[in-house]
Amino acid sequence: MITIMITIVTMIMKSMNNYLKNLNKEIESAIVQEIKKQAEILKTPIISTEGINLLIQLIRIGNYGKVLEIGSAIGYSAIMMALNTRCRVTTIEKNEDSFNLAKQNIARANLAGRIDLILGDALEVEVKGLYDLIFIDAAKAQYLKFFDRYKNNLKSGGIIVCDNLLFHGMVGNQESVEQKRIKSLVKKIDDFNHALIDFVDFDTYIYEIGDGMSISIKK
Ligand code: SAH
Ligand code: MG
Repeated sequence: MITIMITIVTMIMKSMNNYLKNLNKEIESAIVQEIKKQAEILKTPIISTEGINLLIQLIRIGNYGKVLEIGSAIGYSAIMMALNTRCRVTTIEKNEDSFNLAKQNIARANLAGRIDLILGDALEVEVKGLYDLIFIDAAKAQYLKFFDRYKNNLKSGGIIVCDNLLFHGMVGNQESVEQKRIKSLVKKIDDFNHALIDFVDFDTYIYEIGDGMSISIKK
């Protein structure tokens, strides 16, 4: 049932173009508009509109109560999930400036009661408890480590969503990447994508939504 629903949602999202961008109602309160402006000024790479809309629909379909996010940045995606569903979000951020800004933004959105913000490296902090959905959106070279570490915090039947798996289209176009450092990062993401598809305890698909997003369902 949920697999069918996810397929339907993602099929709908995939065909997002200008027509749909205009047609789909943007879920935007004044505070959300402001956070988006902050992100633009600070060049913080927040999730795409179609990406956050997909996450919100997944949480609604699954009626998920507990979400864990790796990589809060300034709080945009956590705030959007909490504002538009009934879930509680735990979110981890290692950069102190981003953490402080996220804290302010969460307070201004009146969501301090439903979003727990943790300062620290997600590969070091200890997170207890089980979650319905885990959203991985931190350092791209470390995705395998995040996945390995946090899959134990996922309920059976829960899902893991990853962002930026196509990395601006470069992952499907590796020969055209010249800079050595970026080439090596793109290769790492490609390796992760293959590993993700091959995990036997998860059913995974990767979609061309936003910057490339995966949905992995724990068997
Ligand atoms: N999810 C946010 C965007 C996150 S950008 C949104 O869509 O609104 C990625 C963030 O992950 C950055 O702020 C970066 O500081 C953080 N990050 C990178 N590696 C991390 C790690 N190991 N632990 C915690 N945060 C990390
Ligand atoms: Mg991202």
